[in-house]
Amino acid sequence: LYSKCRTSDVLFYLCVYKDESLGQGSFSRIFRGTKMDIRDGEKRETEVLLKELDGLHKNCWESFFEAASLMSQISHRHLLLVYGVSVFGAKNIMVQEFVKYGALDLYLKRGRSVSVSWKLDVAKQLASALNFLEEKNIVHGNICAKNLLLAREGDPSQGSSPFIKLSDPGINVAFLDKDVILDRIPWVAPEVLEAPDNLTLECDKWSFGATLWEIFNNGNAPLRGWDLDRKRQFYETFQQLPPSQWTELADLISQCMDYQAGNFGSVELCRYDPLGDNTGELVAVKKLQPNKQ
Ligand code: ATP
Ligand code: MG
Repeated sequence: LYSKCRTSDVLFYLCVYKDESLGQGSFSRIFRGTKMDIRDGEKRETEVLLKELDGLHKNCWESFFEAASLMSQISHRHLLLVYGVSVFGAKNIMVQEFVKYGALDLYLKRGRSVSVSWKLDVAKQLASALNFLEEKNIVHGNICAKNLLLAREGDPSQGSSPFIKLSDPGINVAFLDKDVILDRIPWVAPEVLEAPDNLTLECDKWSFGATLWEIFNNGNAPLRGWDLDRKRQFYETFQQLPPSQWTELADLISQCMDYQAGNFGSVELCRYDPLGDNTGELVAVKKLQPNKQ
């Protein structure tokens, strides 16, 4: 691939060589590649991940571009870096940072034993990315452990924590078939089933709750193996996921997965740490919206 891009004032050339196929995403084929920048006559190579929109979803290219554009315009240490989209003939390819340890759900399912504080670190990093998006009034719309990528494993004996990056949301839920949306239960907020074109910040909070559940259950998908009718009934009868053994976490998840969304304001994940030595407990803090106080 070869394209000429302009980012702010810097003009650079981008060459990407598709090399290794990494399989299939929901709407894309995934490859590993190399990006080559030539700046001031110097060649620089960076490992990248390429998401090529598959033929079946070609008509969703605008939404695919929108996801890429969203990610490339904002910058936060826990948000994935997206370099841009390359249009090559009929192919639309999102070029993004390659994250070494891949998707968090797969990592946890591979049976790597990680501690509760490791999971808590990951949860806090996700919360900080979502807090950043909320301050900018940006809805992500597809938060789940599959879309959390692990950049660093972390080693408690060396005092280093894991490090995650939230990936792009992919195609907007408004363009997806009803069955695909139903299959996203319990990550997708119930109100999205009624109005998929009206994603709100509250929807991300619901997904945050489901993702916390997933992280603390070692990457196992909540409601795994349930058919779509059973999943639909789960929401129709206002059910909740099995509660965690830790009351604070169970409370936090149920406050996020609140069927009366928007009534109470936002939920934040905090550590109550009166001694200031990081031994404090995980607590959920519900901030009331000023007009509801
Ligand atoms: P969706 O829009 O539903 O998230 P997708 O097209 O993004 O779909 P995923 O299923 O999220 O596809 O990703 C497919 C797999 O590709 C992941 O399980 C992960 O292992 C790998 N992957 C995705 N992005 C990256 C990345 N930036 N770095 C390394 N691996 C990645
Ligand atoms: Mg993804």
